[in-house]
Amino acid sequence: MSTPENLASPADASPADSIVPDTKDWTWVLERSCPDCGLDTPAVAATDVAGMLRDNARSWLAVLAGDEDGLRRRPSPEVWSHLEYACHVRDVFRLFRARLDLMLDQDAPAFPNWDQDETAATERYREQRPQVVAGELAEAGEALAAAFEAVAGEQWRRTGVRGDGARFTVESFARYLIHDPVHHLFDVTGTQVRPD
Ligand SMILES: [Zn+2]
Repeated sequence: MSTPENLASPADASPADSIVPDTKDWTWVLERSCPDCGLDTPAVAATDVAGMLRDNARSWLAVLAGDEDGLRRRPSPEVWSHLEYACHVRDVFRLFRARLDLMLDQDAPAFPNWDQDETAATERYREQRPQVVAGELAEAGEALAAAFEAVAGEQWRRTGVRGDGARFTVESFARYLIHDPVHHLFDVTGTQVRPD
């Protein structure tokens, strides 16, 4: 339900569903580094992903501590606001936790489909409160980091299959996953990952 303080600002007057669904297949990031955010995903060690998730979540909390009007402003009608990106990253953390659990519990499970743009509209990302999102993002990020930290030995080779047929091991899934929040942090800060 909308209350006056979380109604969209005038700059956000375009319809909530004006974002064109992003149907791009991002699995190429497993093969080469990303020219935008700079993350060299093939070089990421899956065992480092837990720590990278915690670093990333901390950076999002810094973003969400910013001016609320600024957080709600879309740079252009078809680009998510920083708040919307943060809501998306929180939900990616939750979704990938559920998918990781599936892969560890079942043999080669099929992942249920997830439409990120539909979720953004139905969950009313634009009306959510930054402080609440910050708490939820921190919790979801820590839960996912802890879940990856608990993966050991042969578990890294367990598999899962996405709706479009893309097949992951827990190891490639970890590397694939970490690109998403890192890339979106670049979307909002414009700062590329620096190679070690
Ligand atoms: Zn990227």
